Amino acid sequence: MAKQQQRQYCSFCGRPDTEVGMLIAGINGYICNECAEQAHEIAREGMRGKKGGKADDLNMSELPKPQDIKTFLDQYVIGQDDAKRYLSVSVYNHYKRLLQQDKADDVEIEKSNIIIVGSTGTGKTLLARTIAKLLKVPFTIVDATVLTEAGYVGEDIESILTRLLQVADYDVKAAERGIVFIDEIDKIARKGDNPSITRDVSGEGVQQGLLKLLEGSVVNVPPQGGRKHPDQKMIPVDTKNILFICGGAFDGIERKIAQRLNTHVVGYGSVQNTLRIDKENMMQYISPQDLKSFGLIPEIIGRMPVLTYLNPLSREALQSILTEPKNAIVKQYMKLFEMDGVELTFAPEVYEYIVDKAIEFKLGARGLRSIVEGIMMDAMFDIPTRGDKKFEVTLDYARSQMEKSNLSRLQAGE
Ligand code: ADP
Repeated sequence: MAKQQQRQYCSFCGRPDTEVGMLIAGINGYICNECAEQAHEIAREGMRGKKGGKADDLNMSELPKPQDIKTFLDQYVIGQDDAKRYLSVSVYNHYKRLLQQDKADDVEIEKSNIIIVGSTGTGKTLLARTIAKLLKVPFTIVDATVLTEAGYVGEDIESILTRLLQVADYDVKAAERGIVFIDEIDKIARKGDNPSITRDVSGEGVQQGLLKLLEGSVVNVPPQGGRKHPDQKMIPVDTKNILFICGGAFDGIERKIAQRLNTHVVGYGSVQNTLRIDKENMMQYISPQDLKSFGLIPEIIGRMPVLTYLNPLSREALQSILTEPKNAIVKQYMKLFEMDGVELTFAPEVYEYIVDKAIEFKLGARGLRSIVEGIMMDAMFDIPTRGDKKFEVTLDYARSQMEKSNLSRLQAGE
């Protein structure tokens, strides 16, 4: 009988501890695991209601100003000032549009989707990921390469919005104010100038589909993504207020720019070229026409009125990337070693060597990490057991490790 009295009960559903998975004790009572889960759901629903209403409303005075956004980006991304400025202004204007749209009788601000053009490994995705850290609206990155026209293998265009819905916790209202970064937009460019007789699976058809999203329309989104199938319940999402940021490498577009500028990438400019053209960085002269020559349809280009570019990374930029950003590659390795009680240092020539290799392999900043990884692999394997307190990477060590590592394969152009 005494035992009976000691039994504990959930203060919410009244069930004894023997009938539930576990009981969590509070000051004056208990809650069982099932009630706790239910309470969590209810709380989440409640908060969601609030989010859609006042609590999540953007407040003009609290919005990060374009310069604040850029300063934040500067901590992680080296250089690329133009793109950072455009991006900061676009995001700020996006917020302002959202604020404005509640006031019905005012001037309607149209959205300005952005397109960022820059060679691979120059920081497009990094910019997008970094800006995501301070956004006050749902944000997602999707890859255009998986998109195909409805009816073909691959994902339907609408699936772009699935991810946005997921990050917004299926709160449609919140997703409708979000930002989507579409990477590798150049991969859906039409190949060649003549529209093909057979259907262009990953080209114009996909662009037409994407156009619908960019323009703003209500689209039915498969909540789990992938292909649509008849039994799946679709969620209608209005894309009118979703900001699209597109990025792409547009390989070879420099040639189109050069043609337009009536000059050549190689060789020195013709006499007409009074406007000194910096041939090392043709990207800075990019204009919407070049995107059209590359194979984007004019309607799509028209829906992305902000066009900006990323610079190719110079030797200095690569070296800064290696050592300066808040989470610079070198800092990450120092941290890894520090966790084993080892102080890791690099001789200054090693940085130059790594940069030289990255340039040689033509991998941009993307190669830096693989090179450092190749150099550090043996040390990372041995030192935790050996128990050194200090480790300096000298030029000789770096060289010999590089020669040993299978990274030298990259040299052969693999
Ligand atoms: P992409 O332009 O192909 O999207 P990423 O943004 O993915 O290139 O860059 C690849 C890697 O190179 C990033 O993870 C980052 O470490 C580094 N990187 C590239 N550009 C920069 C930059 N401007 N500043 C700092 N790191 C950069």
